Amino acid sequence: MNEPTNEQMQKEAKIKQDICEIGRKVYEKGFGAANDGNISVRLSTNEIWITPTGVSKGALQPEMLVKVNGQGEVLEGELRPTSEMKMHLKVYEMRPDIGGIVHVHPPYATAFAIAGLPLDFATLPESVVLLGTIPVAKYATPSSQALPESIASHVMNHQGVLLENHGALTWGKDLQTAYYLMESLEFTAKINWIARQMNGARELSVERVQELVALREKMGFMGETPAGVICPPGIDVCSASEQSTSIKESQTLTVKIDEQQMEQIVNRVTEAVISRLQLPKIK
Ligand SMILES: [Zn+2]
Repeated sequence: MNEPTNEQMQKEAKIKQDICEIGRKVYEKGFGAANDGNISVRLSTNEIWITPTGVSKGALQPEMLVKVNGQGEVLEGELRPTSEMKMHLKVYEMRPDIGGIVHVHPPYATAFAIAGLPLDFATLPESVVLLGTIPVAKYATPSSQALPESIASHVMNHQGVLLENHGALTWGKDLQTAYYLMESLEFTAKINWIARQMNGARELSVERVQELVALREKMGFMGETPAGVICPPGIDVCSASEQSTSIKESQTLTVKIDEQQMEQIVNRVTEAVISRLQLPKIK
């Protein structure tokens, strides 16, 4: 194997620093207790830096991190990688565009996960545009093979999931993005919980949601809208019944959306929102 260049070494040192910094942030924010949670960054196609098992995210040091390949074999590092590594590897395998992943147990989002309630309501404009909908992945024992399998059907069309009776997982083009998505996810869960206590979790009107969906398209955000319509950047219009997009389909993300497609998206969102509004609200 070739000796790493100075540039490579600096890049890896920066990745490790970033992971430790995000670790401190999630710990300080109370997104996990004791050794909860795990964080990873993809360095190249087959090299991933990930947090070790048994270390508090608030006490991470660069030398504790572990480099693994796509199969989870350790390439570098003294400690064992997190036991929840398989769900990280699953996301990286399915989404070549993803560069960073955060898994934690933030209290409000985890409460929704325990209740089995997805974050799919149109109450906050920022959540509609930036986060999209966050589904609940069926319960699977942490660290088991069933866990990556339970998230697989949500990976293509969302930016994160609630893990039933467990916590939350977000993925982004880089670690910072994945972390901000986690912050937004928890914030959305918290505000909606508080609003529900006031009997005031009123959803935005169809027109307002349409405007937000158009804005979302313009800004190139990915994921479903609260209406259940998939609107990744540049991807063709998909119906809610086509949620499990295959890996191959994800590679068509470069197709540009034209005006006619945009109109179709808006129409579908309108239909979906209208049908949704006729459903009884979750109390
Ligand atoms: Zn966990």
